[in-house]
Amino acid sequence: MNIHEYQAKQLFLHYSIPVPDGKQATTPESAEQVAKELGGDGWVVKAQVHAGGRGKVGGVKLAKTPAEVAEFSRGMLGKRLVTKQTGAEGLPINSLLIEKTYPIKRELYLSVLVDRGSERIIFIASSAGGMDIETVAHETPEQIISVPVHPAAGLQGYQCRKVAYALGLKGSQIKALGKIMQGLYDLFLAKDASQIEINPLIETDNGELIALDAKINFDDNAVEVHPDIRAMKDADQEDEKENKAQQFGLNYITLEGNIGCMVNGAGLAMATMDLVKLKGGQPANFLDVGGGTSVEKVCEAFKLILSDHSVKAVLVNIFGGIVQCDIIAAGILAAVEQVHVAVPVVVRLEGTNAEQGRALLSNTGLNLYAADDLAHAAEQVVALAEAA
Ligand code: GDP
Ligand code: MN
Repeated sequence: MNIHEYQAKQLFLHYSIPVPDGKQATTPESAEQVAKELGGDGWVVKAQVHAGGRGKVGGVKLAKTPAEVAEFSRGMLGKRLVTKQTGAEGLPINSLLIEKTYPIKRELYLSVLVDRGSERIIFIASSAGGMDIETVAHETPEQIISVPVHPAAGLQGYQCRKVAYALGLKGSQIKALGKIMQGLYDLFLAKDASQIEINPLIETDNGELIALDAKINFDDNAVEVHPDIRAMKDADQEDEKENKAQQFGLNYITLEGNIGCMVNGAGLAMATMDLVKLKGGQPANFLDVGGGTSVEKVCEAFKLILSDHSVKAVLVNIFGGIVQCDIIAAGILAAVEQVHVAVPVVVRLEGTNAEQGRALLSNTGLNLYAADDLAHAAEQVVALAEAA
């Protein structure tokens, strides 16, 4: 799960990580008011969307007067921001973060994440932070250092100093960085984050370190036990279909092809998509309806698949282990009628009561094809999608 920058910065404050003075605003008037209250002689207006790369596309703007803060806010609110990380339709800008500006001497990069290879939490840092960190990673990876933390020993002072030296920090900055890293580590563990990124972490003209940007991802499987984090969820920033799926206990991910897939079990879903590709087709989605499938779930799954207008044919692949195939078949019939499925549907049922299930699906007069083996089902659905 993702949260907004302004929310991440509130969490940072709880963990003694310095952030700019600022406040969230949702109207141009309140944005201007925030600027006046903050005082100073410069402000930054930042679009709050669940994506980075805002700076390059006008989602981060520097204002010299409170009136200009209002003007920039008016230009952003209600629009959609398209960045490198959002996809073509972008994300809605429903709120802004207004902050005081600080004189930037250097932009550094600091993040914490779970490294699957070493099975540890690692810190990643670079003195070449800012908007082009991806290029740095690509072209001069030696400018990036990583420090794995031993899970039992925890973050050690020498590790913080190592990062501080790599970032070219001096004197009291070294201790300040240690405090920031410890704060990040504590926050990461306490809230079950999967990634925290500060880019840029700035060094100001007078040597202070401030987190100018803040991005936090949380482990979806842990959000349930952190009601404070769960409350920060902003559904407007997420894929509508994926949200809907979550409500019904379905695992759904949008893909780019034209064959809708409905499968029970994540492993079987993977195998099904592989087979569709092997037969020359492109899956439009990944959909795992789960183990204990019901008629209601099958209906919702069909609605989801069909709400994607690129879907030209549907492949249903169910293995009846715990579920019974005849119940699934009844669910499919109900769904096809209720949801008015206009595209052809190929169904492959195997396992408990598969015979009865197939019998239910044959001779219905509907656009249904009961396949008896998976390879054949995949070939058939690819052909049907091509013919459409
Ligand atoms: P991102 O592009 O979505 O990662 O958004 P950031 O919050 O990182 O902002 C992008 C860039 O805008 C930063 O790398 C800074 O160069 C610049 N920026 C952001 N806030 C300030 C600020 O308070 N003062 C100044 N001078 N520049 C800022
Ligand atoms: Mn950034």
